[in-house]
Order: sequence, then structure tokens, then C-alpha cells
Amino acid sequence: MKTSQNIFLIFSFLACLTGSFTPSRVEAKSSVPAKKLFGSQILPAALKPKVHGSYTRGCISGAKAVPLDGPNWQTMRLSRNRRWAHPDLVRILEDLSIKGSKKGWDGLLIGDMSQPRGGPMLTGHRSHQIGLDADIWFMPMPDKRMTYLERENTSAVSVLKKNTFYVDDKRWTQGHTNILYLAAKYREVERILVHPGVKKKLCDTVKGDRRWLHKIRPFWGHHYHFHLRIGCPEGSPGCKSQNATPKSSGCGKNLAWWFKTGLVPKKKARKTGKKKKKKKPRHLMLSDLPGSCEAILNAPSSSLANATHKIRSADFSAPKIDIPIFSALAVINSKPIESRKSALKSLIAGTEISQIPIPKKRPAH
Ligand SMILES: [Zn+2]
Repeated sequence: MKTSQNIFLIFSFLACLTGSFTPSRVEAKSSVPAKKLFGSQILPAALKPKVHGSYTRGCISGAKAVPLDGPNWQTMRLSRNRRWAHPDLVRILEDLSIKGSKKGWDGLLIGDMSQPRGGPMLTGHRSHQIGLDADIWFMPMPDKRMTYLERENTSAVSVLKKNTFYVDDKRWTQGHTNILYLAAKYREVERILVHPGVKKKLCDTVKGDRRWLHKIRPFWGHHYHFHLRIGCPEGSPGCKSQNATPKSSGCGKNLAWWFKTGLVPKKKARKTGKKKKKKKPRHLMLSDLPGSCEAILNAPSSSLANATHKIRSADFSAPKIDIPIFSALAVINSKPIESRKSALKSLIAGTEISQIPIPKKRPAH
């Protein structure tokens, strides 16, 4: 793509993101994409914790923030303001961080969860919309507290061997297995998405209790982090659950499919002379989400102090971290966890920022 075209694209993209939109009262018939409405929220709706809709089309009220630091965790990419979730998930993460630290995992690096009121995001993720998903880095916490900039710029490390679909044994530790085991043991945790290579590693090495392996679901990506998902919480009748995972370990032919087909790049379609027109992805609109999401968007905000989870341990003193004022531009300019380049820089280089199209059918995970 030519530079002039690129510049035009970037300007129209930024204008579209940061334009004249002000988050005053919004209605379901709004012509603003839902990612812009939800992506500009700074605080959660001051209502009871309730989940509305599905992981890929929904919103949440009464979300809680994971504190920036806990005794056994640090939150990452703070500019994105995505450390919000249903209180059940926040409690599980705190508990997991404590249990993990006794089993060879020195604290969690917590990546993206949800936006304060859930909903589609300005960049990345089709899911993470209802406060029931959390990305945890496949790296234990360092033994120092990171600064704001370190949390923005540190790149995660893949657990795969370079240019292969398989785990690098020099990087994989018993701690990796343990943290996945501990996470899967929570009744509320329904799925943990990992790269098929990670699933294979567990299938090949876990001895004794293997009943938890069915919750470990192979999926594309997910070798820099694992994605923990809890089921619909109590008190959320509007939450749309996913099908239960099969009870078998999933180490047989389902896993084999990934290495034979799922992970193998598709051959370029033969030129037939006719050019297929690429369909423009349609963004999710507020009217695509459950009706209750309109009220959640328009509800008054909780204060940050009230909406932040109270840490169990009384004697932990968190380091002071100043977070710049939230801006949509900072969100799109933040670095993906596996990259040293920001999403905006990738756009300049000619790769489009991942849009959020209406979900197509994909294999169940
Ligand atoms: Zn995720």
C-alpha cells in the first residue's frame, strides 16, 4: 500500500475513533459502533454485578477492578483499562495467585480482562465482553514491581519453539503445568484456551489426575498467554452460557486435527480469473447486543475506589503507579503482548488493526 493511502487510512481511522463522539445518553438506534461506545467507558455502571448476553456479544454491570498490584500479581497494559470483571472472576484470580505462588508460579501477570462495562473493544478480542474472561501471561511475575512504562512495553515470551507448533522444553516448567492445573480445578472455570502445542505438552506429560484436561481447550494463538473463562455466575439470568466441554481429555483425534489441519496455513486459492470481493466486516452495533446493555451504558458510574476489589491480605502495601488519563488513542497505540510494535505502528506498516466483525462460525473451543 502506498504511503499516501496509509496516511489517509490512519487519519480516517483516528477520526473515526476519537472524533466528535461524547458519551452522553446513547440509544440502541445509535449509528456509532458498539466498540466505540463501550471502549470509551472509564468506570463501571453503579448497579448490581450482572452479566448480559454472551462472551462475544454482551456487557456487564457492577464490574470490579483487579487492583493494579496484589501480593501475588501485577496487572499489565494499564493504558487499556481492561482490568474489569465480574467479582467472582476477580476473587478466583486472587485465590489462584496465592495457590500458584506455593506451587512454583511466582505470581500472575494479568493481561486483558474486560472493559468497565464490558462490550466490544476498540482493538483485539472478539470475546472478553461480559467480565468472565481473563488473559494470564505464560510468564510468572518478576521479583520486582514493574513501572507503568514497563507494564506497557514488556513483551511476553512464547512457550513454543521458534517456527514450530511445539512447546520449547527449555521454557516449559512444572510451574506452567501447575498453574493451569490449579486454574482448571475451580468449579467456576469452564474453559482455559491454550495453543494446541501447550495442550499436547499436557497430554504427553500429565500423570495421575487427568480429569481436568478436558477444560484445557486448544485454540489458535494463546502461546504467550492462557485465557481463563468462567461460566455464567449466579444472579445473571441474562448470561448466555456456552456448551459444556466434552468430558474426555481431548488428547486424541481432536488434538490431532489441529496439527494436521487447524494450524497448517491454507494454500493460496488458485487464480480463477475472477476476483472475489472482500467483504467489509460489519461492526457490532448496540442493537446487536442485549437490550439491557443500553441501560448499562447510560447508568451512573461507581467511583474507582468503590469498584476496586479489596485485597484479602491486610499487610500488603502496593507501589504507587500513576496512570495517564484514559484515551482511546492510547488504547489503540498500546502494544500487543507479543509485540514490541504498537497496534498503531502495525497499521502504519500496512497491517490492519484487527476489527471486530460479526462473528462467523468457528470451531467450538
Ligand atoms: Zn483472551
